[in-house]
Amino acid sequence: MTDNQDQTHEIMVQNICNYVCKFFKYPNIQTKIMRRVRPVTKNKSYVIGHTSIGGNTITLDIYTARLRKPKKISAILSVLVHEIAHHQKPPYRQWHKGRWIVRQHFPKFYKQVNKNIAKLKKDKMIGKYFR
Ligand SMILES: [Zn+2]
Repeated sequence: MTDNQDQTHEIMVQNICNYVCKFFKYPNIQTKIMRRVRPVTKNKSYVIGHTSIGGNTITLDIYTARLRKPKKISAILSVLVHEIAHHQKPPYRQWHKGRWIVRQHFPKFYKQVNKNIAKLKKDKMIGKYFR
């Protein structure tokens, strides 16, 4: 069972995510909170966000990896904005060293991420979380 503090965190994050998706003109994107069964163990890499390209769901981990404490809103927003950028600048196939590869993170993608952050920082509702 989640305690009260976690519940408040989840409701707040959900509202902020809905707002941000609409802000970037993706009202159909649904953000979901990642349910992790147990904390991430030391030195193990882990996924902090996930987006299904072509789909409309973004899944976010909103707790810190090891202690499972509520993550800072700014940290959650960075992941969300990164995932939204995957919709704005979708992956593409590229011929590279004699074979096709899928490029997901390319210069224009990162430019989009930075643009998104800059826009959010200026927003009345969201800007305060970056301060
Ligand atoms: Zn990515």
